[in-house]
Amino acid sequence: MNEGYGIFLIRSVAFATVLVAMGEMSITTGSEASMNAPQVTARQKATDASIAALSSDLSQRFGDRVATSAAVREQHGHTLTWVKNQPPDIVVYPRTTEEVSEIVKLCATHGVPIIPYGTGTSLEGHINAPYGGVSIDLSLMKRIIAVHDEDLDCVVEAGVTRKELNEFLRDKGLFFPIDPGADASIGGMAATRASGTNAVRYGTMKDVVLALTAVLPNGEIVKTASRARKSSAGYDLTRLLVGSEGTLGIVTEITLKLHGIPEAISAGICSFPTVKAACDAVIMTIQTGIPVARIELLDEVQVKAVNLHSKLSLPESPLLLMEFHGSEAGVQEQAERFGEIAAEFSGGPFEWATKPEERSRLWQARHDAYWAAKGLRPGAQSVATDVCVPISRLAECVDATKQDILEIGLIAPIVGHVGDGNFHVQPLVNTDDPAEIEACEAFVDRLVRRALAMEGTCTGEHGVGQKKMKYLEVEHGPAALGLMRVLKQAIDPHNIMNPGKIVAL
Ligand SMILES: Cc1cc2nc3c(=O)[nH]c(=O)nc-3n(C[C@H](O)[C@H](O)[C@H](O)COP(=O)(O)OP(=O)(O)OC[C@H]3O[C@@H](n4cnc5c(N)ncnc54)[C@H](O)[C@@H]3O)c2cc1C
Repeated sequence: MNEGYGIFLIRSVAFATVLVAMGEMSITTGSEASMNAPQVTARQKATDASIAALSSDLSQRFGDRVATSAAVREQHGHTLTWVKNQPPDIVVYPRTTEEVSEIVKLCATHGVPIIPYGTGTSLEGHINAPYGGVSIDLSLMKRIIAVHDEDLDCVVEAGVTRKELNEFLRDKGLFFPIDPGADASIGGMAATRASGTNAVRYGTMKDVVLALTAVLPNGEIVKTASRARKSSAGYDLTRLLVGSEGTLGIVTEITLKLHGIPEAISAGICSFPTVKAACDAVIMTIQTGIPVARIELLDEVQVKAVNLHSKLSLPESPLLLMEFHGSEAGVQEQAERFGEIAAEFSGGPFEWATKPEERSRLWQARHDAYWAAKGLRPGAQSVATDVCVPISRLAECVDATKQDILEIGLIAPIVGHVGDGNFHVQPLVNTDDPAEIEACEAFVDRLVRRALAMEGTCTGEHGVGQKKMKYLEVEHGPAALGLMRVLKQAIDPHNIMNPGKIVAL
């Protein structure tokens, strides 16, 4: 470790000790803090004896809400992509924040890791249990606690899914805009700082979460903020937990911003000769300030997959799917301005999806893109990954990625929430062929490094999980990664919260 970094780390420990003094930690300052900094060693797998003792304690308290069958355990490890399944030892289903706290205290007593579980749709190995432990499945925590129509916010339990929330809100004329392709839990979405097709207009989970209730690794329950739309009152614990992937605490309740359903919504599609032309049109659309609600790219491979999967007949060339929100006149004007930009890049014509059912079918097809892509190579494993770059670099990054795919002969459809500079690539790999695995690993590595070289990020929305940990230092530098490690150690000194994710200790 170089000297500068060492000094930084000591200062960081002091800062973090004051910042997050909680639970077993005492509030200390200055050099005292560096000496008393919690020492966390790399986690060992939980012993059979501690798992057996914990299993007995949990069963006594929670009865048939504790599961240890191989099938349930496997389902609570990673199942969706080529990341190896690492099941937990025990799965438990709490019903309240207090029950989560009880479970966490029991796990802490036995020194057993905890992996929070929402709906298990994360894509980078987030829910795997490399050190064994207890998966705390929040799917029974489904209360919509309050909807404050006049303030445009609501409070929900972590197990409510995004579709369930929108179903509940529809009659009130309100909606919750964040829409990952899967029907994920709100707790999981907060934990991964998720977004989706609407993020270009409505932001990501970091923008819509006003406050959280969370259970810390020592079982303590904290509320991070109030319902106020803005606040300058102290450190922003809400945003510390949003995106922490269950490594700092378990989110049990979330206060969310809502939006009124717009007066007019119109959607449409527009084809382009190349992905570069489509991305150039996106860049100009964003730079000229057209407030698109959704602007999604599908390359020609993905369009073909969607046509097959969703029985559509979209033109099989690079395609943008758009949606505009506003007044009738506003929506019309936005669409016209977009049509002019598309034409400048040889795109078009812009085709409207006027009827609500047509629109829903189009967006459902977009949300099913992951499953559609899998159909292109039956039996192959899917490697779904994402990167994000500043919008001005989007065309360059997508184009270079497309060239890379063509050169190495991968089947790897591209889709993207391109209004944010965010795109996904989904290589389909024969995992029985080591050469193919190696080629795909190398491709993903180039993809990430290309995005980082363009001042982008290794993940715009899927998160770090296990697979992107190695890129955090490249992206943030040793000092920032060191600070993340210090925060983790301060809040979770025994490293029981989702160990082996985000930061290696
Ligand atoms: C078809 C498909 C499309 C997708 N499209 C998108 C997309 O467009 N945008 C996007 O952002 N993502 C997308 N994803 C990824 C995934 O849906 C998101 O990451 C989602 O936010 C995960 O939510 P979940 O409830 O499934 O969480 P899980 O997978 O169960 O957990 C994810 C992580 O959060 C932690 N966690 C879960 N619940 C809690 C909690 N209550 N408190 C603390 N930590 C918790 C877990 O420990 C884990 O680290 C897609 C996935 C699929 C399969």
